[in-house]
Amino acid sequence: MALIVQKFGGTSVGTVERIEQVAEKVKKFRDGGDDIVVVVSAMSGETNRLIDLAKQISDQPVPRELDVMVSTGEQVTIALLAMALIKRGVPAVSYTGNQVRILTDSAHTKARILQIDAQRIQRDIKAGRVVVVAGFQGVDEKGNITTLGRGGSDTTGVALAAALKADECQIYTDVDGVYTTDPRVVAKAQRLDKITFEEMLEMASLGSKVLQIRAVEFAGKYSVPLRVLHSFQEGPGTLITLDEEESMEQPIISGIAFNRDEAKLTIRGVPDTPGVAFKILGPISAANVEVDMIVQNVAHDNTTDFTFTVHRNDYNNALQILQSIANEMGAREVIGDTDIAKVSIVGVGMRSHAGVASRMFEALAKENINIQMISTSEIKVSVVIEEKYLELAVRALHTAFELDAPAAGNTAE
Ligand code: ADP
Ligand code: ASP
Ligand code: MG
Repeated sequence: MALIVQKFGGTSVGTVERIEQVAEKVKKFRDGGDDIVVVVSAMSGETNRLIDLAKQISDQPVPRELDVMVSTGEQVTIALLAMALIKRGVPAVSYTGNQVRILTDSAHTKARILQIDAQRIQRDIKAGRVVVVAGFQGVDEKGNITTLGRGGSDTTGVALAAALKADECQIYTDVDGVYTTDPRVVAKAQRLDKITFEEMLEMASLGSKVLQIRAVEFAGKYSVPLRVLHSFQEGPGTLITLDEEESMEQPIISGIAFNRDEAKLTIRGVPDTPGVAFKILGPISAANVEVDMIVQNVAHDNTTDFTFTVHRNDYNNALQILQSIANEMGAREVIGDTDIAKVSIVGVGMRSHAGVASRMFEALAKENINIQMISTSEIKVSVVIEEKYLELAVRALHTAFELDAPAAGNTAE
C-alpha cells in the first residue's frame, strides 16, 4: 500500500463534471489500496478573474488583501471535490492551507513554504479518509493568508509529499507529460519518458509552466519521486529523475523553453569606472526587483552601455529607478523595451558536446532572427530576441536539434 499525493491543475477541475471525474479517479486509486492526499488548484480562469477584480480597484492591489482574495479559488475546489468523493462513499475531508498549517514566510503573492504540520493529515489518513488540500496557499506566523506565486499548487503538492514522506507525487494536468517544448506552440513536440531534476529545473526557471520551479526544487531537495501525467488519459507520463543516463542516444538538447515575461532596460553612456555594475544594480535589487540577464558592453570614450532584463511586472518600477540613477551618474540615456522574448535550449548532453551554442545561433541566423543578448550555463544557452519571432525561433530550434516527432505515417513503410 502506497501513500500518493495527487495534484490536479486548473483545467482538470475547471467544471463540476471534471471534478466528478477527478473524484472517480481518486476513488479508483483508493479502491486499489493506496492512501491518497489530493491537492487542487482553483477552477481554470478563476485566479485570473479574481486578480482582474482586484485590479479594478487598484493598479497595484495591496498584496496582503490580494492573497486573501485569490486564495478563495482553491477553497471552492477543495470543498467540491470532497463533496464529490463523499457522494461516492469515499470518506474525505478538505483543508485550507491555514487548517493544515502550511507555514510560509510573509512575502505575499510569492511566499515560500517554511514548514508543514503533517499531523492532522496523518490522523485523517489513519482514519481512512482522503484528504483534499487547497494548493497555492499558506499562512504566515502572524496568521495572514499567503500565496505561493502563480502555478504554486504544484509546490503545495510536492511539499506535502515531502512532509508526508509519500511514495510518489503525481502532477495531473492537461498534457500527458513533459514535452521537448510546449506542445501548444510546436505541434511536433515529443513527450519525454524521463527528464533529470537539473534539466526540469532549468526548463521551469526558463519559462516552461508545466511545473512551478519551486516544486522541482523541493522534489530534488527531498528526493520526492515526481511524475507529470494527463488527468483523464492513461499513460506513463514523464518521470523527473535523479539519474543521468549515459546512453548513445542521449540527445544533446532535452528541451526548449521560452518566456515572454521579461523586459529589457539599457542605460547608455555610463562612466566606465569600478563599481558601475553595483551602482546600477544595487538600487534595483534593494527595490526587490530580480535581475535576470546582464550585458555590459566594452567601453569606448571612457563610457559603457549596461543592459539587463527584469520581469515585466517590475518594468515600470525598474525604469523609474534607472532614470534616477542615470541622472545621478550623468549617463547619456535610458532605453526600455518590453517587446522581447527569451528562448533557451536545455540539456545535460551539452556537457559532453562542443558547438551547441553555435548550432543554435546558426539556426536563428537562417531565419534572420537577430540575437540581442546571450547567456550560457553548463546545461543551457539562452538568447533574447524580438518577441514577434518567438514561435518561429522555437520551431526552428526544435528542428535544428532533431527534436521533431517523426511525421505520422512514416513508420508504416
Ligand atoms: P495546470 O493548470 O494543470 O497546472 P498548467 O497550464 O500550469 O496546467 O501547465 C500545463 C501546460 O504547460 C500545458 O498545457 C502546456 O501548454 C504548458 N507547457 C509549457 N511547456 C511545456 C512542456 N515542455 N511540456 C509540457 N507542457 C508544457
Ligand atoms: N490557482 C493558482 C494559479 O492559477 C495556482 C495554481 O493553479 O497552481 O496560479
Ligand atoms: Mg500549473
